[in-house]
Amino acid sequence: MSEKKKKKGKLIIVSGFSGTGKGTMIAKLMERHPGKYAFSVSATTRKPRPGEEDGREYHFVDHTRFEEMIASDELLEHTSFSGNYYGTPAAPIDEMLAAGQNIILDIEVTGMHQVTYRRSDTLTAFIIPPSEEELIKRLTGRGTESKEQIVRRLTRATEEAAFANEYGCIIKNGDLEQSVDELEAYIETESQDPRLHAENLRLTESISKELKRYISKEI
Ligand code: 5GP
Repeated sequence: MSEKKKKKGKLIIVSGFSGTGKGTMIAKLMERHPGKYAFSVSATTRKPRPGEEDGREYHFVDHTRFEEMIASDELLEHTSFSGNYYGTPAAPIDEMLAAGQNIILDIEVTGMHQVTYRRSDTLTAFIIPPSEEELIKRLTGRGTESKEQIVRRLTRATEEAAFANEYGCIIKNGDLEQSVDELEAYIETESQDPRLHAENLRLTESISKELKRYISKEI
């Protein structure tokens, strides 16, 4: 008897403005379905925030180690973001996908480009805040970044907004349960209602415009 072919896992990228709560959405999705999704733990040179644990949120490494990882081709993709390196270790991804495990990557836009270039069957979700006020409130409320760092992250958000249209789905994270429902529906069906996509794209553009106005006043 021929052995049944094992189903490959899905690779899911979740991007979005810093401070949109995408990490909380991913945690919620994983909590709803224990074992169904694995989280890809990135390497970064950023310092841990309070409550973050090495090997759980990130592998916290220094610049020398990160550059070694690049040189020895250990990363599926990598980027520099707000003055720090971030990258996805390749080996766990290959192993988990082959074993049929779905994997979630919390990475930014240039990482999404690198991964989808290598793996065209990757699912991609872009998370936006309900409004620019809410985003500014969440970023300043976190209390972990200086004003300069916040402006830097908001500037990057306006740059990332220009690529939202390239994502398979755009989700507004206002109500957590509802946004996780939408993410789950996208992963299951591998599509999003085009009207919702268009509506959220318009919202992304309008938030980006308002953020640019806010940034120009701050600097
Ligand atoms: P944070 O410092 O807030 O944890 O992350 C900053 C940004 O880096 C977020 O947009 C996050 O999605 C992104 N990021 C985290 N890990 C990676 C990674 O391995 N590769 C890339 N390209 N981006 C990452």
